[in-house]
Amino acid sequence: MERVFNFNAGPATLPLAVLEEAQRELLNYKGTGMSVMEISHRSKEYEAINNEAEANMKELLGLGSNYRVLFLQGGASTQFAMVPMNFLGAGQKADYILTGSWSEKALKEAQKIGQTHVAATTQEGNYVRIPKADEIQLSEAPAYIHLTSNNTIFGTQWQSFPDFGDIPLIADMSSDILCKPFDANKFALIYAGAQKNLGPSGVTVVIIRQDMIEKASTKLPSMLRYDIHAKNNSLYNTPPSFSVYMVNLVLCWLKAQGGLAAMEKHNLEKAALIYDVIDSSNGFYKGHADKDSRSIMNITFRLLNEDLEKAFASEATKAGLIGLKGHRSVGGMRASIYNAMSREGCQALADFMKEFMRKNG
Ligand code: PMP
Repeated sequence: MERVFNFNAGPATLPLAVLEEAQRELLNYKGTGMSVMEISHRSKEYEAINNEAEANMKELLGLGSNYRVLFLQGGASTQFAMVPMNFLGAGQKADYILTGSWSEKALKEAQKIGQTHVAATTQEGNYVRIPKADEIQLSEAPAYIHLTSNNTIFGTQWQSFPDFGDIPLIADMSSDILCKPFDANKFALIYAGAQKNLGPSGVTVVIIRQDMIEKASTKLPSMLRYDIHAKNNSLYNTPPSFSVYMVNLVLCWLKAQGGLAAMEKHNLEKAALIYDVIDSSNGFYKGHADKDSRSIMNITFRLLNEDLEKAFASEATKAGLIGLKGHRSVGGMRASIYNAMSREGCQALADFMKEFMRKNG
């Protein structure tokens, strides 16, 4: 069977070269006579995968020895709770910037743990944009600031990050990590579920600065303690070993593509193919996000009515373009075009959109 162009929001398309490499190694990993799925997480082979994945992630992000990369479980959703449990102490306040449903969910979990403050929200108008720096009103000496770098559902993305000085900055980068260069050294902690830009589901990547590991609460159950995971090299308990292996293959692929600068060029070109059709459609397609907040990972747009949207989704599927139905809170369509989505896939979608407009406009 032919492979389709997969625009799903996550789990999402993976680089074909990575899948083929995993296929080649599936039954016999490096002469062990076993699959990565079958080898012990205490073996030297797995330790090498784990260490290489950490080193590759740090290399791609330009991070030094004052950062650790952890491979945990429970998804980004567990990080919503682990962050405040570890860093929001009694009498402290944590600041949240709300740019969509996932930031709201992160805030809700923090509210169960301690005091919070909404430093900015663009909820009015249904999250069509990222707040401007001068709209952000911090509380006095927050324990940390939390933001969502890319809003998977709404299709908005921070174009650059404000400077918050010494206040620990924590970001959920689940849907845009490694899509372009950024100064990762500005962040105290970054987390991302792997299933969009990094690999399959099952592993959550946490990039954490050393001083945060030292600051993290030691009163929590072991599995919720960053310090325990860091001290044990993400091997406190059985890790999602096959997912970590896949993430490492994706990181190697990214390096071979030319790293984050090459990814940004690739992603900007891909996104432009689709945004150009939206912008030149005379209102046949209407983008959800304000132009200056547009994501290069998730492109959200509506058509003139819901019947047309249904027809669009079903005809697209027949044309081998799948996963384009938008999230119910925005409606319409969403094209998720993570790093692994090819330029050909985006060109095929742009061509399909033009043809659909010609027939129905
Ligand atoms: N944050 C963002 C930005 C997301 O897009 C998602 C998943 N769509 C999540 C968090 C939740 O991730 P998980 O399913 O890994 O808990």
